[in-house]
Amino acid sequence: MFGSISGALSAELTGEGGALRKCPVDIFSERASMRRESQGAATGMTVSALNHVAHRMSIKIITSTMAHEFEEAYGTTKSLNDAPPATVDEIQRLTDDLPTLNDLVNDKLSGQNIKLSLRPNIVGKSGGGYIQGLFAQGTLTLFKGAFRSYGDLISTLYHEYNHAYNMIFLRRNWPTNLKLRDNIDEYLAYKAEYGYTSSTFAKSQMNYYKQLIPSNYH
Ligand SMILES: [Zn+2]
Repeated sequence: MFGSISGALSAELTGEGGALRKCPVDIFSERASMRRESQGAATGMTVSALNHVAHRMSIKIITSTMAHEFEEAYGTTKSLNDAPPATVDEIQRLTDDLPTLNDLVNDKLSGQNIKLSLRPNIVGKSGGGYIQGLFAQGTLTLFKGAFRSYGDLISTLYHEYNHAYNMIFLRRNWPTNLKLRDNIDEYLAYKAEYGYTSSTFAKSQMNYYKQLIPSNYH
């Protein structure tokens, strides 16, 4: 039974032209880069398939750097599956507590004046899906999808802060073609996210953007 469920989901995730593959950066300004997920079709099949994947991801997440750092910081007092905080102060504290985020945000990006905007009750929509996070014009915005769990929040936060890092330090050295720049940006953000979280979603997105960019950016 699981075989048929994961088979169907795998087809949905890896199928040609799946809407979730396309990060619709071009409908915003050049500075908009976002992380989004597919919108699940409202069928029992899809829901059970997604539950199955969520379960597999929660098993895999135990071995990730994120899970390790989270456990080092909070022991058994918090779980990555718990509902996360939704205030700027609490998210800053979470960032300080996790070495990888602390290094990126408080060290590498320190002094860059990145504004954090939280929309925990608003779904950011774009194209055929919804957005969890967005970095545009110096503001990192997190939407409802990022607040389902600590795992979602930390993944999205790290992904978007990587966009901020790319914008400030790397993007000026990239090819002039805007679409290509956006694809390199997404590839690097998902690559960093996958390296930190071991998320299968981030991995599939990383591999998608990888084949759209020159190999010297891999
Ligand atoms: Zn992104």
